[in-house]
Amino acid sequence: MNDQVRGYIFDIHRSSLQDGPGLRTTVFFKGCPLRCAWCHNPESWSLEPTLVVKPLENSDKTVYGQEVSVREVMDVVRRDRVYYDLSKGGVTLSGGEPTMQHAFCKALLEAARAEGIHTCLDTCGYVETRKLLELCPYVDLYHYDYKVTGSDEHHRLTGVSSDLILHNLDVLYERGAEIILRCPLVPGVNDRPEHFDKLGELARRCPRLKFEILPYHAVGQYKYDEIGMPRPALTTHAPTAADQTMWDEQLRRVGVKPYMGKA
Ligand code: SF4
Repeated sequence: MNDQVRGYIFDIHRSSLQDGPGLRTTVFFKGCPLRCAWCHNPESWSLEPTLVVKPLENSDKTVYGQEVSVREVMDVVRRDRVYYDLSKGGVTLSGGEPTMQHAFCKALLEAARAEGIHTCLDTCGYVETRKLLELCPYVDLYHYDYKVTGSDEHHRLTGVSSDLILHNLDVLYERGAEIILRCPLVPGVNDRPEHFDKLGELARRCPRLKFEILPYHAVGQYKYDEIGMPRPALTTHAPTAADQTMWDEQLRRVGVKPYMGKA
């Protein structure tokens, strides 16, 4: 195990049922190159620990993030080994964007794989292709975000163009990677017909892709206040039954059958 490499994380969740197959331990990495207008993890954005400006009453948490070694993380991951084996679970690297700490991300994936633990990488795909490919031998499953259609619109809503993200998706798919495309839908923001058209085109072109729909929620807005950042100016609302019906119709129209999360 390469214990020389250290990195910054802001949380570890054990016993997660939301972050991939089976029961999982999810490691949340600090650092993200995107600034999604609906982000509910702004404490992940900076690579280094983020100070909480106003600690919550009865809380001793004054900082998001800590420096850890691969060994320290693996000591936690290993505790649920028996449950991974029983449930076909494993470890998920999330964030933030794990690939921003490339060496730490790679060392952790490698350590998990060396112990036969299933690995899942949550990524926004905005990473140098060469670096993404270096991780491939150690990743069993990708949760790959696809957020907005149209490069300018993608830039407006996330802070970066989608060109590299779509290119990397093609590269991974052509290498035979197992990918669940995770698509946040934000009412009135990205749920336009062109976006569903693009999902349909991806489904036709990449038939092995699975599509998971992530409906917008406003949980986590308080974190902007905690770390002294303005809340994003986003005109949206919690998805209504009408939104859900429209999404279902659009997905049917373009031939995308959403993946419901569990194999
Ligand atoms: S990629 Fe994820 S963590 Fe990064 S800004 Fe977007 S929603 Fe937030």
